[in-house]
Amino acid sequence: MEHFENDEQFQGLRVNKGTGEQPTVNPYLDNFKKFKRKTYTVSEYVEGILKGNISILGQAVTLIESAKTDHQSIAQEVIEKCLPYTGNSVRVGITGVPGAGKSTSIDAFGMHILKENEASKVAVLAIDPSSELTKGSILGDKTRMERLSIEKRAFIRPSPSAGSLGGVARKTRETIILCEAAGFDRIIVETVGVGQSETAVHSMVDFFLLIQLAGTGDELQGIKRGIMEMADGIVINKADGNNIEKARLAQSHFQNALHLFPLPDSGWEPKVLTYSGYYEIGIDEVWNMIDDYINFVKKSGYFEHRRNSQSRFWMYETINERLKSNFYNDPEVQKELKFCENQVLNSHMSSFVAANKVLDIYLKRS
Ligand code: GDP
Repeated sequence: MEHFENDEQFQGLRVNKGTGEQPTVNPYLDNFKKFKRKTYTVSEYVEGILKGNISILGQAVTLIESAKTDHQSIAQEVIEKCLPYTGNSVRVGITGVPGAGKSTSIDAFGMHILKENEASKVAVLAIDPSSELTKGSILGDKTRMERLSIEKRAFIRPSPSAGSLGGVARKTRETIILCEAAGFDRIIVETVGVGQSETAVHSMVDFFLLIQLAGTGDELQGIKRGIMEMADGIVINKADGNNIEKARLAQSHFQNALHLFPLPDSGWEPKVLTYSGYYEIGIDEVWNMIDDYINFVKKSGYFEHRRNSQSRFWMYETINERLKSNFYNDPEVQKELKFCENQVLNSHMSSFVAANKVLDIYLKRS
């Protein structure tokens, strides 16, 4: 039927016949389905990783990140089989507030490493705590590390997004294992300076680098004491152009501040350097400092000691994570939690009684 608005009385208001609706599903999708990613067996994954096949490595990391139990069990088997081939890397954690120049610097650091040693391979992983809180990301939104991302000897992986910080950190640690098995001898783990995530990164690296900016002289105020204490080295970025003097001033502020802290367990006195990630000034000094540190702690035995304590820490972290997710994913627990939470909110039950009631359901059954 013709549209009523096409009637003479609605002159000037002409409604054309519409065209048929386009299919909402891409008709060519079926063709793509034929090219669906191949799934591998555990030994195919392991073989591919040990050969340094980046695409298989990437897919194995996706399994680590997956919430599906069957993916998880394959991932665990792959990790287990890769373990004997790991440990031969230097792991460096890098932190700094957004805008400190982390991605610019990591791009420069990575390119420096690849240039220094033709056999070196660099993996860049990240722990982004913002994804847990806001489901968005601070680290991942930009085009980052433009030069490094097209290098064959580089593997860049954004932060796993789902789950608690503990869960995300565990996944990153497992990814380190696979990267090492794939021959990556320099692993950089990046995080953004907001507290808890630094502790997580610190617990999986050999060297922890804090990137700072020169400010107005009060730059020390904004930094949590704990983060400074964790740092094995502090670097003031953007020491270029008019900023060089300010950066030097900040360097001496930080140096003085560090003197107030007790010497870290490593016996290494943290250094403060200035550099420019963008203009690539002082990059080798930063990396030489890291090499010096690694030589120092390897000689003293602290390197092994730190890795061993990290392994112990991760054993307990994994147990805690698994217990927690097993508990909270239990359907009966979920039902009881809902009920008890309401009781607590309505003051019909105390928090402790409610907690024990839910825990009892879980514990008495197992
Ligand atoms: P991120 O948020 O810590 O990863 O910081 P980015 O690497 O994205 O850098 C933030 C901004 O600072 C960008 O506009 C960079 O171009 C700039 N930037 C980074 N490094 C330097 C540097 O060494 N010197 C100067 N002048 N600017 C820099």
